[in-house]
Amino acid sequence: MPDVAVLIVEGLFGLLFVTSLWTAIRHRSRLAWDVALVFLPIAALLVIQLIGAVAGPVPQWLRSASTVLLLAQPVFSLKLVSDLRGVPRWILWAAIAGFVLTAAPLALLGSGAGTLATIAAVAVFFVTEGVAAAYLALEARRRSSSARMRLAIAALATAGLALAILLAGAAAAASVPTEVSSFLVRAVALLAAIGYAIAFLPPRWLRELFQATEAFRYNERLLASPASALPDELWSDLAAAARHLTGASVVVLELDGAAVRAVASDGVTLDEPTIELATGAAGGSAGLTDEAVRAIATEVAARTGLPFVRPVPIVRDGVRVGLVCLLRAHASLFDADDAALVSSLAARSANLVQRREALATQERLAGQLHLTVEALEAASAAKSDFLASMSHELRTPLNAIIGFSELMIAEAGTSDRVTVPREWVDHIRNGGTHLVALINDVLDLAKVEAGRLELAKYPIDLAHAVSESVAGLRPLADRKGQRIAVSVEPQLIEADPGRLRQVLYNLLSNAIKYTPDGGSIEVTGARDGANVRIAVSDTGIGISPEDQEHVFEEFRQVGDQAGHVAGTGLGLALTRRLVEAHGGRIELASEVGVGSVFTVALPTGSAHPGHEAAADTEARAPGGRARVLVIEDDPSSVRLLQAYLGESGYGVTVAPNGERGLELALADPPAAILLDILLPGIDGWEVLRRLKQDPTVRDVPVVIVTVVDERSVGLALGAVDYFVKPIERDALIARLDRHTFTTKVRTRAVRVLAIDDDPAALAMIDATLS
Ligand code: ADP
Repeated sequence: MPDVAVLIVEGLFGLLFVTSLWTAIRHRSRLAWDVALVFLPIAALLVIQLIGAVAGPVPQWLRSASTVLLLAQPVFSLKLVSDLRGVPRWILWAAIAGFVLTAAPLALLGSGAGTLATIAAVAVFFVTEGVAAAYLALEARRRSSSARMRLAIAALATAGLALAILLAGAAAAASVPTEVSSFLVRAVALLAAIGYAIAFLPPRWLRELFQATEAFRYNERLLASPASALPDELWSDLAAAARHLTGASVVVLELDGAAVRAVASDGVTLDEPTIELATGAAGGSAGLTDEAVRAIATEVAARTGLPFVRPVPIVRDGVRVGLVCLLRAHASLFDADDAALVSSLAARSANLVQRREALATQERLAGQLHLTVEALEAASAAKSDFLASMSHELRTPLNAIIGFSELMIAEAGTSDRVTVPREWVDHIRNGGTHLVALINDVLDLAKVEAGRLELAKYPIDLAHAVSESVAGLRPLADRKGQRIAVSVEPQLIEADPGRLRQVLYNLLSNAIKYTPDGGSIEVTGARDGANVRIAVSDTGIGISPEDQEHVFEEFRQVGDQAGHVAGTGLGLALTRRLVEAHGGRIELASEVGVGSVFTVALPTGSAHPGHEAAADTEARAPGGRARVLVIEDDPSSVRLLQAYLGESGYGVTVAPNGERGLELALADPPAAILLDILLPGIDGWEVLRRLKQDPTVRDVPVVIVTVVDERSVGLALGAVDYFVKPIERDALIARLDRHTFTTKVRTRAVRVLAIDDDPAALAMIDATLS
C-alpha cells in the first residue's frame, strides 16, 4: 500500500491540524495551539506533496524546512505534555538541544550530512517522542472513562509515530530493501494516524461508548444509596464520582435563593461556602444565567487557587439549579468529555436529591400529621370525658326539675291551694325536657364522633316502625291541624330499632315544626334495589339552596325562623350520622315556600322474615305460686323458660309475638312478664311501651330476656330487670321471686329505704312513692 497509505496518513494529520487550529482560534486555548503544533509537521508534508503534484519538483530548501519541522514534532509533543501536567524543565531543554544539534546538520547539508547525522536525528526523535508518549500514558492513568481512553490512545499513537521514524531510520541505515521497510513504516504510521484521529476526533458514538460504563456504574451506585441518604450525602457522592472520573478537584454548588452554596467538594475545600450572586443572575425560571456560571467559576477558581476551571451546570427540568466546578492546576485535554459525563451524572443526582427532599418533606408532614392526629384524638377523648361528666352533672338537677314540676302538675289537679299558675310549671317542665333532649343529642353526637356508637341491628318491619313514630307525633300534628299521610310497604330491614326511631322522629318532628298550621306531611317507604327509601315530605317553609348545604351541620339553624323555633340545631346532624352509621345516606330536596323532602336510603341488610313462631301455649302449674307471661317467639327458648319456671313452681303462659302478648296481658294481668325484644311484628320495645301506658298492666314487673344488650334502654323504658341470653337459671328465678313479691306490695304498706346523696332526689323519690 504505497502512496495511498501516505496520503491517508498525511490527510488525517491535515484534518487534525485544521480542526485543532480552528479550536485554538475559536477558544483562544493554549492547549489547542499545542495540539495544532503537534499535527503541523506531518500536515506540512501533505502540503509539500500537493505542491509537488501541482507545480512540479519542490525546491530543496522547502524539503529541508519540512524535514526540520518533522524533527521538531517530538518537541511539540513534549510541549503539549508539559502544559498538561508539568514536565521537568531540563527534559524540555534537553529535547530542544537534541533537536537543534541533530536537525542543524541535516538542514544545512541535506542528504550530504551522512548516515551518522541521520541516525542521531532519528535517535533524538525517538527518545523525545517516547518520553512524550510515556507522559501521556501517565496522564491517562490519572483520568478515567473516555478521557482516559483517548489519552491512552494518544499515547499509543505518539509511540507509534516514534516507532515509524525509528523503523524508517533503521531501514535507511541498514540498507533494508525499500519495499519491506516502507511497508512497515507506512503501516505503523497509518496506525498512529488513526490512533490520533480516534483520540482527538472521536465520533460521538465512540465517546458515548467510552462513557456509558462509567455512567452505568454511577447510576448503580445512586440506586444502591440508601433511601435515607440525605441530599448532602448524594451531592458528596457526585463530587467523589466527578473527581474519580475526571481526576480534577471538584466543588458542587447549589442555587439557594440569591446565592450559590457549596454543598459538597472533593480534592479541595471552599473555606467560605457561599457565593452571593449579582442581581438577576439566578435568571428566573431558567436558573443560573451564563454570566452567573462564568462568574461563579472565576470566583471558585480564585478561592481555591486552581486556575483551570470547567463549570458544568446541574440541570433539572431545564433549570440550572447548580454547578459542578472541575478544577485543575494544569490545562487538560478532553475536558469537554468530562463535562458531558459529569453533566449527565449531575442531572441524575439533582433528580434524586429532589425526590429525596420531597420524600423528607413528606415524612416531616406525616410526622406532624401524626402528632396532630394524636393531639386531636386526645382532645376528642377529653371532650367525650367532659361531655360524659357534664351530662351526668346536668341530668341530676334536671331530674329534680322535671320530676318536681310533674308532681306540681299532678298536685294542681287535686289541690285547691295552688298559687303558681299551671302555665309556669309547664314552662319549667318543658324547659327541662328540652334540655334533656339536648344533652341526649350532644352525647349521641359525641359517641358517634368518638366511634363509640354501637348499633344493635336486627330485622324490623319498616311499616311498623314508621307507623309507631307517626303515632307518637300525631298529637303534635293534630294540634297544628296538620294531616299526616303514611304509605309504607311492609318491608323488613336490618337496623337498630332505637336509632331508626330516632331518625324518623327527628325528620317527622322537623316536618311538623317547620310546616305552618294546616299543612300536610307525607311519609313514604319503598324498596329500591338493595335499599329502602324512606321519604318525609312536608308543605312547609322550605330551605333555600344555600342553606341546604348547612342544615346537616351541628348547631346550624337556618332560614328566617332561625332562633325563633325551639330547636337545638343538632337533630339533622345526628340524624345524618345515624343514617351513615347504618351504611345509608340522607338527601334533601327543598324549595322555599313550597316544602321539603328528606329522603333516607338504608340498606335492607340480610333481613329475612322472623323465626318460626312458637305456639301460643298456656300451661298453668297446678297450685303454682304465680303466673308468668312469656312473650317469646323462639320455640327452644320457650321450652327452656317453661322448664325453669315450672321447676320453680310458676305457672307459664306463652305468647309467640308482641300483639298476642299484649292481648293476653290485658285480658288477665300476670304476676310478671318475661319479654323478648326480637319479635316478629311489633318488637319488644313497643310491647314494653304499651304495657307501661296501660294502667291495668303498668305495674306488672317486666323482665327482659333477650340477646340485645341494651340494658339501660330497657330499664329506662320501665323494665324491672334485664337478662342477656344465655340466662342463668338461678339468677332469673331469684329476681323473678323478688319482683313478683313487689307486685304484692301494692296490696299492703311497705317501707322503702332510699339512698342518694342528693337531697333533691331523695325528696322527689319520697314524694313520688308516697
Ligand atoms: P333544629 O333543632 O333547629 O330543628 P335540626 O338539625 O333538626 O335542628 O335542623 C336544622 C335546621 O334545618 C333547622 O333549624 C331548620 O332551619 C332546618 N330544617 C330542618 N328540617 C326542616 C324542614 N322540614 N323544613 C324546613 N326547614 C327545616
